[in-house]
Amino acid sequence: MSHEGIRIVSEEQARREMAGETKLATDAVTPAKVRVKKSEGTGVEIDWKDGHKSAWTFAWLRWGCPCATCNEERQQTGRAIGVPKPKPGGPLVMYEAPPRPVEVTPVGKYAIKFKWNDGHESGIYSWEYLRRVCQCGECTKRV
Ligand SMILES: [Zn+2]
Ligand SMILES: [Zn+2]
Repeated sequence: MSHEGIRIVSEEQARREMAGETKLATDAVTPAKVRVKKSEGTGVEIDWKDGHKSAWTFAWLRWGCPCATCNEERQQTGRAIGVPKPKPGGPLVMYEAPPRPVEVTPVGKYAIKFKWNDGHESGIYSWEYLRRVCQCGECTKRV
């Protein structure tokens, strides 16, 4: 019996490969400038060290929350990241304020955290996560 072809990979690497993710270059996941347009209420813009520019609306970020609860909910309902939860049908239309952060906190050097106006605050948005879900025209075209 041959053992050729057996590679030893770390769990993290195996997970990435299964998800079809390749490792990103350090410059691609290091922000040179982060603009959180909190008072304008529009969203977040990041200029990366590799020259790429990303932008997300606050609504996209809220519905793309990477916390375990939101991940699970999306898996169960088949909701894609960044897509709002469907509203229940019927004649009663409830007004809901559009998602916006009431608090934005850096998490170490690797992530940013939002406390949303609906009270949710468990998502930690790592630079790597944000780069992977870049919503610029170029990146969304590739998916
Ligand atoms: Zn969440
Ligand atoms: Zn992009």
